[in-house]
Amino acid sequence: MSTEPFFGPDFSALAAQDPDIAAVLLSELERQRTNLQLIASENFTSPAVLAALGSTLSNKYAEGYPGKRYYGGCEEVDKVETIGIERAKALFGAEHANLQPHSGASANVAVYQAFTKPGDTVLAMSLPHGGHLTHGAKVNFSGKWFNIVSYGVRQDNELIDYDQLRDTALEHKPKMICSGATAYPSLIDFEKVRAICDEVGAIMWVDAAHFIGLVAGKAIPSPVPYADVVSFTTHKVLRGPRGGMIVSKAEHAAAIDKAVFPGMQGGPIMSAVAAKAVALKECATPAYQEYAKNVITNAKALAAGLVEEGMRAVSGGTQTHLALIDIRNSGVSGKVADQRCGDSGITLNKNSIPYDPESPAVTSGIRVGTAATTTQGMGVPQMREIAALIARAIKDGEDPAKAAAIRGEVHDLTAKFPVYPR
Ligand SMILES: *Cc1c(COP(=O)(O)O)cnc(C)c1O
Repeated sequence: MSTEPFFGPDFSALAAQDPDIAAVLLSELERQRTNLQLIASENFTSPAVLAALGSTLSNKYAEGYPGKRYYGGCEEVDKVETIGIERAKALFGAEHANLQPHSGASANVAVYQAFTKPGDTVLAMSLPHGGHLTHGAKVNFSGKWFNIVSYGVRQDNELIDYDQLRDTALEHKPKMICSGATAYPSLIDFEKVRAICDEVGAIMWVDAAHFIGLVAGKAIPSPVPYADVVSFTTHKVLRGPRGGMIVSKAEHAAAIDKAVFPGMQGGPIMSAVAAKAVALKECATPAYQEYAKNVITNAKALAAGLVEEGMRAVSGGTQTHLALIDIRNSGVSGKVADQRCGDSGITLNKNSIPYDPESPAVTSGIRVGTAATTTQGMGVPQMREIAALIARAIKDGEDPAKAAAIRGEVHDLTAKFPVYPR
C-alpha cells in the first residue's frame, strides 16, 4: 500500500495497523482525484489544514475560552484559539469571533439560543426557495421549537422579494430575521435587510455558510458591517476544515460565547480550531482573493455553458459560486440527472427550483458549484467542457457504455488538474 505524504507521517502506521480503514482513505482520495466535484458546498482543503486537523490537539480537553478554561494544561491550545480569533476578526472586520461550533448547524443552534427563546417568531428563507434545514424545517429543532415564518423569492425573477419580506416582518414582528440560503445564486441586499430589521426591532442574523469564502476573498460584499450576528461553515468556499464559526458585534459577544459553551457544546475540537486558524491565514492572501474571484467567473461560465446546452439558469445566472439549473427541458428529473451524472463520474446534487412542481425527493433542478474545480486550477475553458459533459451525462448516462465513455473523458480532464499531487 502506498503512503501519501499529506496524510502525515503516520499513514504507513495506520495502513499497517488498520488496512480496512487505510484502504478506504486511499480509495476516497482516488474518488476525489478522478471525478468532477461540483457539489456547491464542497472543496479541497490544503495539506496544511489537514495537518492541523490530524494533530495531537485532538487529545486536549479545553472547555471554556482562552484564559478561562475548566481544565488544566490549556496553555498551548489557548495560543491557537487566540490566534484564530484575532485572524477571524481581522479578516472579516468583526468585533467578536467564536471558532468553537462543531458545524454550521451547531453554530445556528447557538445563534437561536443567544437571541431567542423557544416559541419566538423568526423569519427565514423558505426551504423550497433555498433555505437551510436550520431555517425552520419541520424535522429540525428550528421548526419544532420556534415559530418560523418563511419568505421566498418572486416567481418572475426568482430573486428575494424584499417588499414581501418587509410586509411579513411588519405583520409577524419577528424577534430575529435570518438571511442566507443553501441554494440562492444571487447576492443578498444586506442594507435592505438591515433597514427592515431596524423598522421592526429584529436581530439581523446572516447565515453566510455558503458564500462566506467569497466575502473572505473580497469578491462579494460583506454582511458583517450590517448584521448583529453572522454564522457560517468553514469548509465550503472558505476551504478550511469541516466546522462552524460565528462573528458578531461586541455587544453580543457574551451571549454568543455562552450559547456555544456551555449552552450547546462541551469541549471544543481544538485540532479543528487550529485548522480554522490555518485556513483563515490562507484566506488573507492575494492568492486566495484571486481564487475567490475565479470561483465566481467559473460559476458564471458553467451556468452560461449549461444554458447553451438548452437548460435554464434560475434567476438568469449567478453572482456567486453556485448555479441552480432548471433541467425540465431535458425531459428528466433532478433525481434522474443526479444519478446519470454520478454514473458518469460527475458529482453534483439534485435541487428544488423555486415553485418546483416536483417533490423535494425528485426535483426539477440540479445545483452546481465551482469551489472545488477552481481549487484544482480549472478555468473558463474547462467550465465549457464540463457543461457539455453534464449535458451528455443527463441525456445518455442511462446507457452504461455511454456513461463509461463520459467517465473516461472526466478522468482525462481531472488528470490535467491533479488534486493533492503525488
Ligand atoms: C451548509 C449550511 C449549513 C450547515 O452546515 P453543516 O456544517 O452541514 O451543519 C447551515 N446553513 C447554511 C445556509 C448552509 O448552507
